Amino acid sequence: MSDKYLEIANSTWGKKIFTAIGLPDPVPLRREDARQPHKLAGPVLMGASQGALFASSIGASIEAAGVELHDQSMEAKGHLLFDASGIASAEQSAELYSFFNQHIKSVMDSGRVVIVGQKPSAVADADRATVQRGLVGFVKSVAKEIGRKGATVNLILVDSGGEQALEAPVRFLLSAGSAFMNAQVLTVASPVAAMDADWVGPLTGKSVLVTGAARGIGLAISQTMARDGATVIGVDVPQSQDDLVAAMDSIGGLSLPLDITDADAAEKIRDFCLSHSTTLHAVVHNAGVTRDKMLSRMTAHQWDLLMQINLGAVQRINKALLETELLDSGGKIVGVASISGIAGNIGQTNYAFSKAAIIGMVESLAEPCAARGITINGVAPGFIETQMTAAIPFVTRQMGRRLSSLGQGGLPIDVAEVIGFFVSPQAAGINGNMVRVCGQSLLGA
Ligand code: NAD
Repeated sequence: MSDKYLEIANSTWGKKIFTAIGLPDPVPLRREDARQPHKLAGPVLMGASQGALFASSIGASIEAAGVELHDQSMEAKGHLLFDASGIASAEQSAELYSFFNQHIKSVMDSGRVVIVGQKPSAVADADRATVQRGLVGFVKSVAKEIGRKGATVNLILVDSGGEQALEAPVRFLLSAGSAFMNAQVLTVASPVAAMDADWVGPLTGKSVLVTGAARGIGLAISQTMARDGATVIGVDVPQSQDDLVAAMDSIGGLSLPLDITDADAAEKIRDFCLSHSTTLHAVVHNAGVTRDKMLSRMTAHQWDLLMQINLGAVQRINKALLETELLDSGGKIVGVASISGIAGNIGQTNYAFSKAAIIGMVESLAEPCAARGITINGVAPGFIETQMTAAIPFVTRQMGRRLSSLGQGGLPIDVAEVIGFFVSPQAAGINGNMVRVCGQSLLGA
């Protein structure tokens, strides 16, 4: 669904009027160029604190990836990258201030700011850990300052051994693919599996399973995975079989029309995957529904039906897949939560419960999965333009779009790109992360 406000705000006359009367005029976000996905566009100015731990290896790897890297200033506007891992005291935090005070204005429209620090719990010295934690507040505030340019700021915290797997999150956060991921913290740890893959077609030769693939975010996930080289196995309800088959045919994927709440659905999915390959690279639990009602009016059926689709089926599918070795050594599981599961929402007790539980699933399965070479991560989308959000009443829908630092709703592709990053083999150090893809929505922030 189109966002008329965004279109008018960016027309020649709309811009003048909106500026004159002081209305917010969000910048349309730059997204991946379908012909050259994963290409890092625009110069990057890089700075580092004294004693920074990762700057030289990050600089070398992104320069090798073809990025125009600067260390003083840039003529054209671009992106900023700062290794703050050396900051160990309140006094030394002035180095962070000084770099951004000088250069924040050189961030381009839809530009990226990426800051790298150390995961406080992995730092032995308490004073240093305390100061590193400060980076989170800094990132969230910078995001609020530059969001109106469509620019994003994210923080990577390096856990022990994470330096080996740092290139993938740095490259993703500098790319157009992270357009709607804003003010988030990604933790990178020691990789749980091999990371060798092509940066352009990271999923070449791999199969991925996507539930709810016939439309909306699930369709975008399927298209993004296919773009990255995967054969997609798309699952959706039998009533959507025509849409599912058309979607999968258009990307060379396989269709499995199935209600994931059927008693034998998990086994059917596992057997279907086994009949096509001895390995499954990833499962993306995207299918989900809302059944909004105030708690006193919600029927038991509305609670149970939603809980089975959003949570029960997800757990059963994981169990069936993990009983086999289909996902072992390099496999990926991705859960789709919601900011409703973080902030709560009126009339969504059932939905928020199910989505908070998906966050719990990522947290509780991260360790056992890592032991088998599997990663599990999740996204919590904010307001994304789909049929689900088109059904929201007009005023609430407008508020949902505007109440974020980027001043607009995201597109299904924005969620899909983050999931594409999670399932790329190079992201083997990203495990147990739940990131909001919400443009820094004020809800639950
Ligand atoms: P959508 O309604 O457009 O698509 C959901 C898909 O899941 C549909 O194709 C539907 O047929 C399928 N599905 C539903 N029940 C199923 C079942 N029992 N078995 C198999 N397939 C089933 O929704 P969307 O907006 O694309 O949302 C996708 C996911 O993202 C959901 O988990 C949703 O909760 C989550 N999410 C969406 C938003 C948003 O703003 N759109 C925000 C936060 C979270």
